[in-house]
Parts: sequence; C-alpha cells; structure tokens
Amino acid sequence: MTTQPSRDRVAVITGPSGVGKGTLVRRLLERHPDIWLSVSATTRAPRQGEQDGRDYFFLSRPKFEQCIADGDFLEWAEFAGNLYGTPRQWVERNLERGPVLLEIELEGARQVRQSFPAAFQIFLAPPSFEELERRIRSRGTDSESAIARRLGRAREELAAAAEFDAVLVNGDLEEALVQLERLLIPV
Ligand code: 5GP
Repeated sequence: MTTQPSRDRVAVITGPSGVGKGTLVRRLLERHPDIWLSVSATTRAPRQGEQDGRDYFFLSRPKFEQCIADGDFLEWAEFAGNLYGTPRQWVERNLERGPVLLEIELEGARQVRQSFPAAFQIFLAPPSFEELERRIRSRGTDSESAIARRLGRAREELAAAAEFDAVLVNGDLEEALVQLERLLIPV
C-alpha cells in the first residue's frame, strides 16, 4: 500500500500530451500555493506566451547534454524529439519547504520510481483516445508531424497507466481537481 504525500514528499503526475495536465496542475496550485511545482528544463522551443524560468528553462541541446553529463537532472527523457529534465537541485531545495509536484512524462516517472520510491505517482488519463486527439489538435500549437509523434507516444503512455499508484480520468476538470486534491492533500 502507498501512503499519501505530505511535507518533504514528492508527487508525480504523468499522462499523455494533451490530456490537460498543465491546466489541472495550474488549478491545483491556485488553490494550494504550499505545493511546489518543479520547473523543468527542455530543448523544445518556447510556445507563444511561455516564459523562460517560469514555464521551462529553455536550453540548447549542447547545454542540456552538459547538464546530463554533470548529473544535474533528477530524471530526464526524450519526448517527441526534444529533451526534458527535472533539475535535481531545485527539487532537493524545495523538498525542505513543502511537497513537490513533478509534471513529467512516462520515462521520467519510471526513473523517479528508482530515485524516490516513496513518491506518489498519479496517471491522468483522457476519457477516450478520440477525445485526446481532439484536444491535441484544438490546441493548434503543434505541427502535423509533432501531433503524430505525440499521438503515437500517447498510446504507449496509456498502456502504462496500471504502473501508477492512482489513475484519474480527466473528463470534467473540476471533478478531476477534487479527486487530485483527495489524493494529494492529507485530511
Ligand atoms: P510539452 O512539450 O507539451 O510542454 O511537454 C511534453 C511532455 O514532456 C509532457 O508529457 C510533459 O509532462 C513532459 N515533461 C515536462 N517536463 C518534463 C521533465 O522534466 N521530465 C520529463 N521526463 N518529462 C517532462
């Protein structure tokens, strides 16, 4: 049995691209400012409106590879042609202040299972694959080839849902938020 996260604990939320992790996590943090969301590094180009240091640390591939070599990441993975990683120091520093949430993809979640076995791992699933595709397309931010890569990867991620401590279906955002709070916030 897995215990629930509390201070000095790590929680991981994973789910296919387009499932609405970002929106759900934003709503969670609005209501629980004591939870720290890790800001990842990535080699992906910033989307419109994204800010360096707030949404991601946007790094060149050589710089990212240097950080890997220096052991700067708690976990890192390649996703849809880009590299993503969780800065180790940031997590370790913030763990002293409160629960830390990592919003990462499947390979990263698997690595965290090794480095932080006590982390509570949540999988966010779409109501259906068709709905996921509709959400990715309606975002309008990705090229057709990026969409195809993300959908292919989504199938692999969905197949791994059973590895997680809890699976939440993101049909209705507010409902998913209440369920997430129940999992993360000890009563
Ligand atoms: P996006 O490009 O849509 O912002 O993110 C693509 C995927 O990378 C998402 O599934 C997101 O959760 C994941 N991701 C973001 N940051 C990290 C990270 O630091 N490590 C890993 N492994 N995945 C990440």
